[in-house]
Amino acid sequence: MKPIIIPQSYNYIAVFLSLACNLRCSYCINYFEKGTFVKQQLSGKDWIRGLNRIVSRDDLPISLQGGEPSLHRDFIEILNNIKPTLNVDVLTNLQFNEDELVKKVPPGRIKRSSPYASIRVSYHPETMSLEPLVKKVLTLQNNGFSIGIWGVMHPSQEAEIVRAKEYCTSLGIDFRTKEFLGEYDGKMYGTFRYEGACDKKFKKQVLCKTTELIVGSNGDVYRCHSDLYEGRKPIGNILDEDFEIEEKFRECNVFGHCNPCDVKVKTNRFQQFGHTSVEIKF
Ligand code: SF4
Ligand code: SF4
Repeated sequence: MKPIIIPQSYNYIAVFLSLACNLRCSYCINYFEKGTFVKQQLSGKDWIRGLNRIVSRDDLPISLQGGEPSLHRDFIEILNNIKPTLNVDVLTNLQFNEDELVKKVPPGRIKRSSPYASIRVSYHPETMSLEPLVKKVLTLQNNGFSIGIWGVMHPSQEAEIVRAKEYCTSLGIDFRTKEFLGEYDGKMYGTFRYEGACDKKFKKQVLCKTTELIVGSNGDVYRCHSDLYEGRKPIGNILDEDFEIEEKFRECNVFGHCNPCDVKVKTNRFQQFGHTSVEIKF
C-alpha cells in the first residue's frame, strides 16, 4: 500500500477507533444531528496496517478518539504497534482500567513534547464523578504518562467545572476548559466562521476544503466531522491501496448542517487562535 503523506497544511489527524461510548452525555457532539454513523470497526491488525501508512510530522500526532477509543477490543495492541515515528494522542473519558495501561503500554508511547498533555481526559459532571477520575489520572501521571483533564464549559455545569479545575490544579493535575459547542436552551453556543453553518435551517451547495484527516471506525475517510457523524458517503478508506490525501475543494450540498467541530474558530496545533478546520467557498 502507498504511504499516506500528510500535507503541510494539515492540522489534525482524527482517528475514531470506536464511535461507541460507555457514557451518554446530553451534549455529545457526535449526536449534534441524528448521529447515524457507521458502527462497524476495523480489527486491530487492520488499524495497525492502515495507520502505519501515515507519514506525518513530529508536531502532528495521530489523535485516537471516539466515542470512547478504549472500547476497541484491540486498543492496547493498536497503541503498542503504531510505528514509533508516529506520535500518538488519546482523547478519552478514562472509564477503562488504568492499571492495564500502566502494565502494558510504555508511557513514552503516548508522550511527546507539546504545550498540552498527550492523554486528554474529558470530565463530564453529568455522567461521571470527579473523585474516581482524579484517582485514575494521578495513577497514570505518577507512572510517567502525559495526562490532563479537560472540562466543557456547558452553561448548566460551569460552576462545577470551575470547582473541579481549582481542585485538580491543587493536586498538580493540568486541568483545562473547553468552549461548549452546540445548542442549549434554544441558544447556539460557539464562534463559527460561516453564518448559519450549524443552524440546521437550510441546505446550500458550496465548495469545501479541509485541513484534517478524519478516519471513521471502519477506516473510511470523510470530508468533515459532519459527514462522519451523519454517515454520509466517505471519500476513501485508509485500507484502499491507492488512497492519498487530495488538498482540494469538494462539492457539498448540505452546508447549513455542518458540525461545530468543522467550522468553529479555534486554536491550531501551535496554540494560535483564529484557525478553522475547513474553508468554504459559496
Ligand atoms: S464521554 Fe464523550 S463521546 Fe462519550 S457520550 Fe460523553 S461527550 Fe460523547
Ligand atoms: S460544508 Fe459543512 S457539511 Fe459540507 S463538507 Fe464542509 S464542513 Fe462538511
